[in-house]
Amino acid sequence: MDRRDFLKTLGVAAAATLIPTLPKTVRPARAEIAGCRIVVFGADGLRVDYAQTLRSQGGPALSSSSLNPPTCATCGGVSMTQPGWAAIWSALPAEMNRCWDNAKYRKMRPGHHVMEKIISEYTGDDLYSVWIVGKGNIVGNKLKPSGLKYRKGSHYGVYEKIVVEGKQGVYYGDESRDNDTVYGLAHDALTEAVRHDDFICFVQFHDPDKHGHWAVKNESDDYGAYMQRAWEVDSHIANLMALLPSDTNVIYCSDHGFDFKSQGDTRNNHGYSPYGVLATNFTMLDAPFVSQMSIGRLIYKLAGGDPNRTQRSPDRRFYRMFGEDLI
Ligand SMILES: [Zn+2]
Repeated sequence: MDRRDFLKTLGVAAAATLIPTLPKTVRPARAEIAGCRIVVFGADGLRVDYAQTLRSQGGPALSSSSLNPPTCATCGGVSMTQPGWAAIWSALPAEMNRCWDNAKYRKMRPGHHVMEKIISEYTGDDLYSVWIVGKGNIVGNKLKPSGLKYRKGSHYGVYEKIVVEGKQGVYYGDESRDNDTVYGLAHDALTEAVRHDDFICFVQFHDPDKHGHWAVKNESDDYGAYMQRAWEVDSHIANLMALLPSDTNVIYCSDHGFDFKSQGDTRNNHGYSPYGVLATNFTMLDAPFVSQMSIGRLIYKLAGGDPNRTQRSPDRRFYRMFGEDLI
């Protein structure tokens, strides 16, 4: 038997063993899509199992009946902030969204940012847009011009659409902000957003990631303090969710996880912690883990878009190749 035949036999045997044990594919009812009423909350560096811990401990948002149990949203590339949020907000892999790591990224091409696409498609409608970040330097923000060719000097469609083109909404992307400041800005912005027929909002908190890094810098294995910050973010999100009408589609996600030696990991960092989180207030495909790129697809579908049809060639190919449809 040559090697190929051997592998084939092995594959058939493995399939025969596995197939009867695979669970039946669950196909939940599609979410009702009527316009665009979407709020995406970001908790930077929240690992999925810690989110599950928050849920079991009664974290105000994650344990509430309005959110389904959190699932794992994995990074396709390195587990860092820039690639994480870029994958989420483009629904594309790094070679297409051009964000490879925290130091190496270029301007996302026009029409690739999911929020930008939605704003463009709702031109003339009563759509209110919100972009508020706690971490000043995430992809999607306007950054100070550096003279370098788009490196650390780029801005993206969100800024163009909300600020330059004068669409309705608020944009607070340039600086880093503490959790309370993000909460205050978001409270006002969401209060205004829900007065409109349609809205698409992103509210991103810098914690628990920020405190995780502080702990590492101070050579402290401070899982407990990290979890305290995660709880704080979770309660801010619960308070913000209370402002939203029940027909709002809520997505709660993170860009990557965070590891602690005290929890059995090999380091105190998120250099290899691709286990971000995804929780929603609507039924999704029942999957043990999903790709972060699927979150972008999800946002776009919730707004009534068809990810397979609207991306320009050759990028359409990537939309078909990457990311599963969760609704
Ligand atoms: Zn980080």
